[in-house]
Amino acid sequence: MKMMEEKLKIDKISKGTVIDHIEAGYALTILGLTGLDESKNLITIGVNVSSKKYQTKDIIKIENVFLNETQMQQISILSPNASISLIENYKVIEKKKVKIPKIIKKLILCVNQTCISNSDEPINSEFLVLEEKPLKIQCVYCERIYKLEEIVFTSKEKKEKIVKQRIQL
Ligand SMILES: [Zn+2]
Repeated sequence: MKMMEEKLKIDKISKGTVIDHIEAGYALTILGLTGLDESKNLITIGVNVSSKKYQTKDIIKIENVFLNETQMQQISILSPNASISLIENYKVIEKKKVKIPKIIKKLILCVNQTCISNSDEPINSEFLVLEEKPLKIQCVYCERIYKLEEIVFTSKEKKEKIVKQRIQL
């Protein structure tokens, strides 16, 4: 019976990506930030799923979609423990842990108005990762330091759509 419950909760997909061990409560934020919420593919989301390792976690399963490097980085910032599994024919063909880059480029906005990354100069934002857990990053231009809950995400592709989510902690 237990097995069956598990199976129902975490339905297998034939092809696509499973993002597992997402910090509980972050699944929807991740969908919005990565742009996966605009996908036409089937997405299954588990929020507050019980987990042996972390008590509760979120899971996202997306059919027919493989993540790009930017999306992986966005996930790593919000959920450093997340794992990504690539599925083909119902089998995991590759499993990887997300990794926070040493320098985060473009994805985050420096809210300091006088920072050169906010000027008319064609300069992309750039942050140095000082600490991973809990996250602490520093703007390489104005040296302002940000904690995870202070981060404002942006994306180059969708510059008009600045995702300003309140992160649950
Ligand atoms: Zn700055």
